[in-house]
Amino acid sequence: MHKTKPDWLKIKVTGGENRKQVEEILNRLSLHTVCEEANCPNLMECFCKKTATFMILGNVCTRKCTFCNVMKGSTLPIDPDEPLNIAKAVKELGLKHVVITSVTRDDLPDGGAEHFANVIREIRSIDRHVAIEVLIPDFLGALDSLRQVISAKPDIINHNIETVSRLYPSVRPMAVYSRSLELLKNVKEMDQSILTKSGIMVGLGEEQDEVIEVFRDLRMNRCDMLTVGQYLAPSKNHHPVSEYVHPEIFDQYKQIGEEMGFYHVASAPLVRSSYMADKAIL
Ligand code: SF4
Ligand code: SF4
Repeated sequence: MHKTKPDWLKIKVTGGENRKQVEEILNRLSLHTVCEEANCPNLMECFCKKTATFMILGNVCTRKCTFCNVMKGSTLPIDPDEPLNIAKAVKELGLKHVVITSVTRDDLPDGGAEHFANVIREIRSIDRHVAIEVLIPDFLGALDSLRQVISAKPDIINHNIETVSRLYPSVRPMAVYSRSLELLKNVKEMDQSILTKSGIMVGLGEEQDEVIEVFRDLRMNRCDMLTVGQYLAPSKNHHPVSEYVHPEIFDQYKQIGEEMGFYHVASAPLVRSSYMADKAIL
């Protein structure tokens, strides 16, 4: 049963020239954003600040996470111009911190790792000072794919754990909790200069002690940064919201995360893994 949204999740909608400009750039360069595909509640705010999270490798995913609004089904061929077009968009938007994510492409031999690396290199070739954060899939645990992404030297590698271990079968049926943790640890083992980041949604049916257990597991796997946000169901056909978690609980999660040693914790109802991502590394 979907419950009525509390006041703290109601967003003030404002228009703006910047939003139109962002949309024009995205359309002209044939780029996708997770902001639009996932129907992110912060879209208006982020586009008005001229920031967006690019989604590469198409807009159709091979997985079936029950919380996610991204289209599922037959994938499209990779656009070879996408790396250059993303670099152009980064320049036109004047981004100093760019977040790149993707659909999961289990159909590709390398899971799309080479394409991720190409995007990173193209952005660097246009502006070597821009901070690059990649929010990557698990590549089915393939170390070669992870190595390929790391070889392009992103500043931050983010991989969302999304929910507590118990809820994986109903929320992330094609993912594996331990595999996601191992990915974060493997990043540090391959290149400890890269910051690692992960995020969890709450309100999916988890208990608070299970959330804290996830924090502990992330720290044990050398995760540096953490985001915690409220799950919002994109439609009635998606996983239902079990609870609208009170902002005070988010504050407690922030404090607990900081005490556990995360370098940065963003925890609030409307936090998403890429929300104000630039603030984490200032
Ligand atoms: Fe896009 Fe992230 Fe902002 Fe949402 S929070 S609109 S996904 S940049
Ligand atoms: Fe959505 Fe990512 Fe799951 Fe694909 S893998 S369905 S894009 S959350």
